[in-house]
Amino acid sequence: MPEFSDIGRKLSAKSGILELMDDLGMAMTTHPDMRMLGGGNPAAIPEMQAVWRERLGELTTSGEMDRVLVNYDPPQGSPAFCEAVAGALKAEFGWDISSKNVAITTGGQTAFFYLFNLLAGERAGKKRRILIPLMPEYIGYANQGMSEDFFVSHPALVEETGPYEFKYHVDFENLDIGDDIAAICASRPTNPSGNTLTDDEVQKLAVLAEQKGIPLIIDNAYGLPFPGAIFSEATPVWNEQIILTLSLSKIGLPGTRTGIVIASEEICRAIASMTAVMGLANTNIGQAIARPLIESRELFRLSRDVVKPFYEERSARAREIVREAFGDDVPWSIHRSEGAFFLWFRFPGLPVSTMELYRRLKERGVLVIPGEYFFFGLPEGENWSHQHECMRVTFSQSENVVREGIAIIADEVKSIFKS
Ligand code: PLP
Repeated sequence: MPEFSDIGRKLSAKSGILELMDDLGMAMTTHPDMRMLGGGNPAAIPEMQAVWRERLGELTTSGEMDRVLVNYDPPQGSPAFCEAVAGALKAEFGWDISSKNVAITTGGQTAFFYLFNLLAGERAGKKRRILIPLMPEYIGYANQGMSEDFFVSHPALVEETGPYEFKYHVDFENLDIGDDIAAICASRPTNPSGNTLTDDEVQKLAVLAEQKGIPLIIDNAYGLPFPGAIFSEATPVWNEQIILTLSLSKIGLPGTRTGIVIASEEICRAIASMTAVMGLANTNIGQAIARPLIESRELFRLSRDVVKPFYEERSARAREIVREAFGDDVPWSIHRSEGAFFLWFRFPGLPVSTMELYRRLKERGVLVIPGEYFFFGLPEGENWSHQHECMRVTFSQSENVVREGIAIIADEVKSIFKS
């Protein structure tokens, strides 16, 4: 057996989420009737699929497809695509950006691997970390740091906003940004909770980042101007201190692996260098499909008029179904649905772990994601009961699947509380 290096071991190690994703994948293949309420896939929205098909047809008939397939792009991304992104964002939001402020990666996930390890880790004998100001956060970040203790996370403040509903806030009073912090990072809207940081919270984080001379990274995978899966008032922001990431995944093109980083020229050049080292160039088909739609801002319109209403409606239906299925027999609530594709449940005082709840639900043909995975980087010994009471359920599936799945979840949770 070859001996792996420290980094080799870290990158190839079994992570909880890898095991869980394997388990989910196996369950789906061995059990075709499984109700998949676990994934982060976008829904197959017919209007959007028609747009992709039309674009693929145009690329083929115009001969552009031949050029796309046979050429490597420059590592920073297709120049025409970067121009289109910069021009459209400038026109839409008035940001002072050019194509030099745009860098493409093979999906948003890769952008985070690059950004985190570019900014945090060992530097001049000192350890620098990524601060997560509001925990729970996206599980995909958790294993990306190339050194130990990579994240410093702060538990959210939990506000009860109504019967059966809560909302997270950043706990600014206890948000201590030490000299070891290399960057602040938050997804907006947030996977898993569907929370959307308010404009005021983003403004405060931006000021804190500026005072410390560190970047604020905003993960806009579900946000504006595309895919627009955001249901509360939220103004997109960018300046040289902010690194904003976008992706073509949640609008319907996850298979093209296209991430977009909007940042200072220095950061974008660094991302391009990392792309060259890691993979020479990026996947270019997503850029080719989306370029004219971004140039004309038609993708922004489709996000507003098609994608957002689609997910908002799915979220509202799912919440109705939940209210009917759970009634008031057991303690339950869900995070206010302000964006993304998920309902984030909380069962205060749940007598079993959410991993156990996951196993029992899988037995009964429903796949969810146990909440514990979304709490990482909390101080050692931190025993926040909240992290053992939550569960993520996707509402992007068809109403039937969501209805059947939620009925089973409600039944199982009730029987756990009663036993
Ligand atoms: N950020 C968030 C919050 C996500 O939920 C995801 C995917 O689920 C990503 C980033 C990465 O997506 P992709 O690599 O497909 O762009």
